[in-house]
Amino acid sequence: MTDIFAKDKQFVANTYARFSINIVSGKGSVAVDNNGKEYIDMGSGIGVTSFGFCDDEWVKAVTKQLGTLQHTSNLYYTNPCADLAEALCNKTGFKKVFFSNSGAESNECAIKVARKYAALKKGSDYYTIITLNNSFHGRTLTTLAATGQDVFHKDFTPLTEGFVHTPANDFAALEKLATSTKTAAIMIECVQGEGGVNALDFDFVKQTAELCKKNDIILIVDEVQTGNGRTGKMYAYEHFGIMPDIVTTAKGLGGGLPIGATLLNVKVENVLGFSDHGSTFGGNPIASAGALSIVNRIDNKLLDAVNEKSKYIFSELKNAKGVKSVSGMGLMIGIETEKPAKEIVNKCIENGVLCLTAKTKVRLLPALNIPFDTLKKAVEIIKNACEC
Ligand SMILES: *Cc1c(COP(=O)(O)O)cnc(C)c1O
Repeated sequence: MTDIFAKDKQFVANTYARFSINIVSGKGSVAVDNNGKEYIDMGSGIGVTSFGFCDDEWVKAVTKQLGTLQHTSNLYYTNPCADLAEALCNKTGFKKVFFSNSGAESNECAIKVARKYAALKKGSDYYTIITLNNSFHGRTLTTLAATGQDVFHKDFTPLTEGFVHTPANDFAALEKLATSTKTAAIMIECVQGEGGVNALDFDFVKQTAELCKKNDIILIVDEVQTGNGRTGKMYAYEHFGIMPDIVTTAKGLGGGLPIGATLLNVKVENVLGFSDHGSTFGGNPIASAGALSIVNRIDNKLLDAVNEKSKYIFSELKNAKGVKSVSGMGLMIGIETEKPAKEIVNKCIENGVLCLTAKTKVRLLPALNIPFDTLKKAVEIIKNACEC
């Protein structure tokens, strides 16, 4: 079969509403389809290709490891895994890292750690995890239970027990729930991504962190999408002046290879012991070598550039015709448009720009190192699409 669209529809499970584009190659922030048409990529494969397609430094790190050692299992020590864990801890102050292969898995690990901590400290009935309405934490049955959006739950019940949801930015409601329920953990995204690119209120996050500290509740911050420089800090919690007990991340960490990480702070670094958790591929040498090259490049200079580009996008789009509002942080941006988001995205595709959506918004997650002139071209095309 030569028609790739037909072949994919016939043989790949129908879980994705794909756009009719067959991307065959890419370099930096430009993707190329099978007809040779070029697109400026404003989505980074949903916040994954942090330094764009086939970035030279990343390719070098990955291929060097590929020709050295691709996998050993976690029965043995390997350099890339230990080096990456050290780099993450040095950059953040966290104490230990558990590696997995995806965002959902990084959250599964965080949930296990929180439950075991609470079970040992307070009793096994302290298992409830509180998350926020409109959150997104993954697609496994447990992380679906954590996800505070009913649309994802339909047809898949019963989900894992012990998850309750409360409105974002309503601290009184959260406090009441946390103190009237036998709570193990509170899990938040500092900027809700899939929920519509909405940053939580500063005070709400601050108060939540204080509540957790006071009541010995584990604070988990899901940085699967917001992490690794995306919001203009290494991790988004830094904007709020808090220190979580556990941070989870994935997407942009690997630069395009699957990796998840659960960062454990001093309170929980030794909660998991031998055989409590594991992953065949977790900390895989190739994924770890790629991720290390990414983490090592997220420095103040890069973050300053991210913030500068963010300011540019906000100022260009805020008062643009057809734009109702712009939300988000750093290079994680949501645009509420007068026309349906899907229409804007299609118009952008026609004109050579790839954008994402989140709920009713157009969502932008460009590569952190997108060149300014490329970004300017994309923003012009997006503005045009919103206008006409
Ligand atoms: C994408 C995402 C996940 C799920 O990550 P997967 O790698 O698809 O399992 C979890 N939490 C947040 C905040 C995400 O954006």
